[in-house]
Amino acid sequence: AKARGGNSFHFYEKKLNDMFEEEMLLDHGLREALLKDQLVLHYQPKVNTFTGAICGVEALVRWEHPELGRIPPDKFIPLAESSGLILKIDEWVLLEACRQNKAWQDAGLPKIPIAVNLSGLHFSQTHLVELIQQVLEQSGLDEKYLNLEITEGVFIKNVDPVIDTITRIRDMGIQLSIDDFGTGYSSLSQLQRLPISNVKLDRSFIHDIADEPKKAAVVKAIIDLAHSMRMTVVAEGVETKNEMNYLKQCKCDELQGYYFSRPLPADEFSALLDSEDDW
Ligand code: C2E
Ligand code: CA
Ligand code: CA
Ligand code: CA
Repeated sequence: AKARGGNSFHFYEKKLNDMFEEEMLLDHGLREALLKDQLVLHYQPKVNTFTGAICGVEALVRWEHPELGRIPPDKFIPLAESSGLILKIDEWVLLEACRQNKAWQDAGLPKIPIAVNLSGLHFSQTHLVELIQQVLEQSGLDEKYLNLEITEGVFIKNVDPVIDTITRIRDMGIQLSIDDFGTGYSSLSQLQRLPISNVKLDRSFIHDIADEPKKAAVVKAIIDLAHSMRMTVVAEGVETKNEMNYLKQCKCDELQGYYFSRPLPADEFSALLDSEDDW
């Protein structure tokens, strides 16, 4: 470029190049990861607040890089969203999660719904409904054991077509959750427009809830409102007994977090599910 010369500019340019290179490498690596079976799923239980029983599970993707080791989703999901590759990743996750859940059921483990995270991109770019139908057919999983988690961001633009798609998915008998609730722009009043049966309270609301009266009040209000609209509520990121007790007091339906279990590899999760069934 014309402005070449100043050291600071060179520095800036180099940094940009590095960033670009790193992204290129990651993007290329991710495409390979999809082809070479480097993606794996870990599974985190959702627990019934009042019985303590495992009542659901969330599939969370990990990238096992041959040289770099395990790369957490926060490192590659944002990049995959900007390149569009997330569509392919989510497709893989959806099929893998449904197959795994079906395999657990066929092995005689308790039947629970499996939750899969879907990027908002699916709502503008693909035939989501057909994809889901295909995955259910391929995996043989009954639709009532699939739960899709979508973030509020999905509802910011083009609300009507999104609601239309979500209604079709709900009418298929699939459970829908609104993920990270409270962090985005959608307000409580908007909730009632959405054909959704479950709200997941973002973990930023749960942290230290027992010691922060304002947070506690917000959480209680959200739970009550969701209940008044016949939605159930899951709290994410429950890490302590105090947090659990407060959420129980508020009648939050389900809890998820390190206090109960970290996300586990498939074999460890199935052992947990199996041992629970013998209690
Ligand atoms: P999320 O959907 O909000 O998932 C919950 C995240 O919180 C997970 O992080 C989980 O490991 C973490 N977590 C669970 N319990 C606790 C706790 O008690 N304390 C704390 N501090 N954290 C807890 P993870 O697995 O790193 O995933 C991060 C995000 O990446 C997810 O947030 C989700 O937005 C995205 N993600 C993961 N898998 C997929 C996927 O297959 N597709 C898409 N589109 N996004 C995914
Ligand atoms: Ca989620
Ligand atoms: Ca969250
Ligand atoms: Ca058993």
